[in-house]
Amino acid sequence: MRITPNQTDQSYEAVIERGVLKKAREHIDLNRKVLVVTDDKVPREYAQTIVAQCAFGVLVCLNSGEASKNFDNFKLLLSTMLDNGFSRKDCVVAVGGGVVGDISAFCASCYMRGVDFYNIPTTLLAQIDSSIGGKTAIDFMGIKNVVGSFYQPKKVLIDVDVLATLDKRQLHAGLVEGIKMGATCSRELFDLIQNSCDLSADLPLIIQKSLEIKKSVVERDVKESGLRKVLNFGHTVGHAVESAKMGALLHGECVGLGMLYCASNTARKEIEQVLEKYNLPTVCDCKESQLLSFLLHDKKTDGENICVVKVDEIGSFRFENMRAIDILKGEKL
Ligand code: NAD
Repeated sequence: MRITPNQTDQSYEAVIERGVLKKAREHIDLNRKVLVVTDDKVPREYAQTIVAQCAFGVLVCLNSGEASKNFDNFKLLLSTMLDNGFSRKDCVVAVGGGVVGDISAFCASCYMRGVDFYNIPTTLLAQIDSSIGGKTAIDFMGIKNVVGSFYQPKKVLIDVDVLATLDKRQLHAGLVEGIKMGATCSRELFDLIQNSCDLSADLPLIIQKSLEIKKSVVERDVKESGLRKVLNFGHTVGHAVESAKMGALLHGECVGLGMLYCASNTARKEIEQVLEKYNLPTVCDCKESQLLSFLLHDKKTDGENICVVKVDEIGSFRFENMRAIDILKGEKL
């Protein structure tokens, strides 16, 4: 699949192929200095498989978790490149989930004003969503993704086999981003996820269909000035739930709950069913006042109003400017 953001010359390929990790050299020029970034809960053999194919590979392993997307690790990656004499012609390869992907890409975008970046996502969330689109970030002063850049990868290698080691809860939380793409843009994808009898066998198709949707959105709106906001379906309330639950729920679990606030009664019932099928939460026990205060501090809030993605019918969406308090009321029964 080739992704061409706004018809610029930054087009890149996303290769979806079982076992592609072992054949990375066929897709990426590893005959140079390569910074390979991973984290300590990603099975080490994945990053080592890449290092073994490099002429000069340097491996950095971060602690797993969102807290690693920080300024100190950003400095660690840059200083490792400088200490090892990386030039503008060398590159960075991320082997991990969205955390490793976001910070590695940001580092690649800044080192010597930009070196080649390759993403090898190892969580379903990263394979289905975060590995394409060119958003890079670290968290700063307690604010998620507040420092970052738009920087496209040179290539994305998606090896579905690496998901075998991911725990079920993480897998299902990642699937929520696919449910989101289906709910807003494709009845076919939504039904594929809802009716799947063997998720692991269906994953390559689910990933491909989700990426096709994301591709068509980000190609038309690289910097989130309009259409790309559709990818935020469920995220406005989802982020508030995530903050209120202080890490007790995974990002995808919170987005799933967030979608329920922004769907019509009929669409909500269908979304609830698919969330239940994958043991994802469907009841939010957060206090409305708490969610409201997080919503009012959301960086997407414009004065009183927030631009919300609403789904009236599965496979379609519309934008609506709403007051935070009204979003939390959801669709009246
Ligand atoms: P993550 O990167 O924290 O990975 C989740 C956990 O799974 C980690 O403990 C990790 O070590 C482990 N893991 C990863 N691959 C594994 C494997 N194959 N086997 C076993 N364990 C494995 O979380 P995530 O959900 O992948 O990503 C979340 C991050 O992505 C957030 O920081 C979010 O802001 C970011 N994000 C970015 C974009 C974007 O467009 N750039 C979009 C959505 C989310």
